[in-house]
Amino acid sequence: MTLLNRRALLGGAIAMGGALSLRVPDAGAAAPFRNSLPPAWHRFRLGEYEATIVSDGRLPLGQPEPAFPASPPAELRGLLEAAFLPPDTATLEQNILVLNTGRQLILFDTGMGESMGADSKMFGPTTGQLLANMRAAGIEPEQIDLVVLTHAHNDHCWGLTTAAGQRVFPNAQVAVSEADLKYWTDDGNKRGPAFMNVFIEGAKKNLSAYRDRLVMVRDGQEVAPGVVAIATPGHTVGHHCYAITSGNQVMVNTGDLAHHHILLLKRPAWEFSYDTDSKLSAQIRSRMLDRLATDRHPVLSYHFPWPGLGHVARAGKGYDWVPVPMNMSSLG
Ligand SMILES: [Zn+2]
Repeated sequence: MTLLNRRALLGGAIAMGGALSLRVPDAGAAAPFRNSLPPAWHRFRLGEYEATIVSDGRLPLGQPEPAFPASPPAELRGLLEAAFLPPDTATLEQNILVLNTGRQLILFDTGMGESMGADSKMFGPTTGQLLANMRAAGIEPEQIDLVVLTHAHNDHCWGLTTAAGQRVFPNAQVAVSEADLKYWTDDGNKRGPAFMNVFIEGAKKNLSAYRDRLVMVRDGQEVAPGVVAIATPGHTVGHHCYAITSGNQVMVNTGDLAHHHILLLKRPAWEFSYDTDSKLSAQIRSRMLDRLATDRHPVLSYHFPWPGLGHVARAGKGYDWVPVPMNMSSLG
């Protein structure tokens, strides 16, 4: 723009301002805060497949110290503060993968759902958003052919049925490990921490609705073309990660291998309170993180910051979480 044009424009603006006597709006016209969040889904290509991450909503853990019982409290606070996170409360996400292979629509885990009434809100009102966010992403529950579970905990399998016990995914088979199926439907395991009772009741209700359409997950075998199960026991007896390969791209869905992107990556040997065998869980986590850092494959982590996509990079005695930018339309 030339100087002459600018002068002419400015002159015009001043003249208009004078004619219309512009006023600043008064404070009484301020809009109310909306407090709502946009629908949470994120889509990208993985080789020949289309992947959509859908959120089941945030899952607030509250005070972090009880959730990480093997962690020295001062060190825990220091790690959170260094990452600019509040030291007195930890919030997890629930990042659910919908994989379209072109032949099948596969859902990985189902969130907290609403099948267990008030217990479905044991982490507060923000969970249970899967179906609303799926529909916002253009996916209907009737379209799901296969639900693949990483494990049979509340925030992963309680979304299989409605409160009335009806199947939410009427056309789906459900893939789960035999070890988790047995463990979490056995009343004999109602001992130990108080949550065991309701965890078992929830798994029984949700898995029994699909009893005639269960598929057993086996270590090293495909549950669908290009989707290979990797046994990673510890968090639960039958916890599995899934390596998803299409074309020349690989992504590893790690489920609950690690619950916190700072605490359990910087300190993989720390224990987590909801682990069935926290010592084994720490060992398996350390081994898998080492492998992921070596292989440099992108990772989808269920509880990491939305949408849970990133890489694991070695850093000192632990690892850094390096998020994949949201503007990547394809991984790899
Ligand atoms: Zn979980």
